[in-house]
Amino acid sequence: MNDTDSSLDIPDQKPCAFCDYLSGARPFTILCRNNLIAVLVTREQRGIGHLLVLPVRHYPTLLESEPDERHAMMDTLAWAAAAIDAAFERPGIAVWQNNGTAAHQAIPHLHFHIAGTLPGGGTDFDDVPELSVEQTDQIAAQILAAAPISSELGFTTG
Ligand SMILES: [Zn+2]
Repeated sequence: MNDTDSSLDIPDQKPCAFCDYLSGARPFTILCRNNLIAVLVTREQRGIGHLLVLPVRHYPTLLESEPDERHAMMDTLAWAAAAIDAAFERPGIAVWQNNGTAAHQAIPHLHFHIAGTLPGGGTDFDDVPELSVEQTDQIAAQILAAAPISSELGFTTG
């Protein structure tokens, strides 16, 4: 049983961690948001300036996304890439997105990962230390100092 009409195996997590972060029920660093999309700073940094781009509306995978959300997510990913570039000046920026537990999706709320590459290249898919929210707040401050919030995308901080 899953929350979708697709064949995908959706991770079983209730309540949804991302919905809790967006509602403020649990603390997390929200870099910016608009009515459709939010940009979070993940506590599991697998690259340098590792962000999550997700719809505010809860649904599990790319298959349930609506066109306006898809367009806003791609616009936001492009802004996030430019912001990571401005803040961290990495030689590579990776974007990835997983649908279904077989693809290693862990939270049943669509999200894209975007991260600057590590020294030596690539991103780290092994165990990484879990940063505190104070530490991810510092990453957000570093990004916002280098890259202004996109007024074109209607973002506000927090
Ligand atoms: Zn959710």
